[in-house]
Amino acid sequence: ERPSTTPHIAIVPSPGMGHLIPFTEFAKRLVHRHTFSVTFVIPNDGSPSKAQWSLLDSLPPSITYVFLPPVSLPPETTHIGAIIALTLTRSLPSLRDELRRLVESTRLVALVADLFGTDTFDVAQEFNVSPFLFIPNTAMCLSLFLHLPALDEAVSCEYRDLPEPVKLPGCIPLHGRDLLDPVQDRRSDAYKGVLYHARRYKTAEGILLNSFQELEPRAIEYLKGEEPGKPPVYPVGPLANMEQSSKTDSSECLKWLDEQPKCSVLYVSFGSGGTLSYNQMQELALGLEMSEHRFLWVVRTPNDKSADAAYLTADSQNEPFEFLPEGFLERTKGRGLVVPSWAPQAQVLAHSSTGGFITHCGWNSTLESMLSGVPLIVWPLFAEQRMNALMLTQDVKVGLMPRANAESGLVGREEIARAVKGLMEGEEGSWVRNRMMELKDAAAKVLGDDGSSTTALSELALKWKAKLVNQLH
Ligand code: UDP
Repeated sequence: ERPSTTPHIAIVPSPGMGHLIPFTEFAKRLVHRHTFSVTFVIPNDGSPSKAQWSLLDSLPPSITYVFLPPVSLPPETTHIGAIIALTLTRSLPSLRDELRRLVESTRLVALVADLFGTDTFDVAQEFNVSPFLFIPNTAMCLSLFLHLPALDEAVSCEYRDLPEPVKLPGCIPLHGRDLLDPVQDRRSDAYKGVLYHARRYKTAEGILLNSFQELEPRAIEYLKGEEPGKPPVYPVGPLANMEQSSKTDSSECLKWLDEQPKCSVLYVSFGSGGTLSYNQMQELALGLEMSEHRFLWVVRTPNDKSADAAYLTADSQNEPFEFLPEGFLERTKGRGLVVPSWAPQAQVLAHSSTGGFITHCGWNSTLESMLSGVPLIVWPLFAEQRMNALMLTQDVKVGLMPRANAESGLVGREEIARAVKGLMEGEEGSWVRNRMMELKDAAAKVLGDDGSSTTALSELALKWKAKLVNQLH
């Protein structure tokens, strides 16, 4: 006999901190606002990072976690997309064992997987557990995924060669070259993988979205409309962890910020693993220097081959300061603080001295900035970040976009200095700052008692509880 009548949810996150963070926030809101219990069932290919442990260990008792037995990957698997995909598929047998255990010991009603985890749906259905999908990104991203099967049929060339932009309902038109990375080469395994999962999205009983009404009103309005083959969509965002425990001693950054004037510091960081090329790093350093503004820069060892080099490890191999321009640290001393690899980002963004953010537009970083009302300079690197950057600058208008030089592909130092001055002292800067403050207020509202994201979560909780009632009878 099963012990409890508390509905239970299994969450299966894709590898990577970026996916785990919004999921843990979701779980916290679910158990805090509604009586549920949750188990994180975590596929992995080896020892989990310290950041993962400390995040999971900080969760309340009604949220537990289990790491599935680590899968072994062929040594040639180095591409992030392939690592994520293989880790998930090779974990399916042990996921099945774990779900069996959960079905026997809890009132398991639903399984929630993210972006590329739709294979877990089949396992869930074997146990009569409802499959749900969590999109840790924007409504625009979800629209693209839902639209991709049709786009794939209608278009025969590469999307970047399309003469006309792609028009997704409720979104700004997007040039094919700005769509997310894996769809840029239609013969690649990455593309086939994305298309495979996109086709399966319709088998979810519902789709959760880490966005909110005021941020993407038209795209969300479309997604909430009923249409055959489109599961109900629940915008439950912004889910971000603003009290994150930091991996390293965070006091240096925060102490330094305490000594700076209000709103005067530009924070510069490219997510948990974004890297620049060596030449681009030089331009950024010299641009920050030319701007004459204060900055706090999380520096990583440059990588000329890929921009997501450190994504799954979030470490720099070498001493990153060696790669800064000659004399840079001395010349910017006092005005700039450079920290290697990692900063307590949420606290930095929430600090009153922070007045701007150069960001790669990872969705967690973007939401953290929004929750703190800090406007952006967008600097997309990989994955879906170009789409985010365009939405944020052209549609939502909470950031400025520096232009890369057409020949070198680099964003030059003058352009960087211009953007920094534009954001920190210009008229355009104060405009986007006000707009970001409006969104900060809107975000607080949607997460409040009668807010749209709270209501969407309640609808979902009701639906899940109804499933439990069915099970019990
Ligand atoms: N982060 C941090 N310190 C850093 C860099 C990143 O705390 O120096 C955190 C950041 O606050 C965010 C996450 O790591 O929560 C990065 O997620 P995002 O979606 O922005 O980018 P990704 O790492 O997935 O590219």
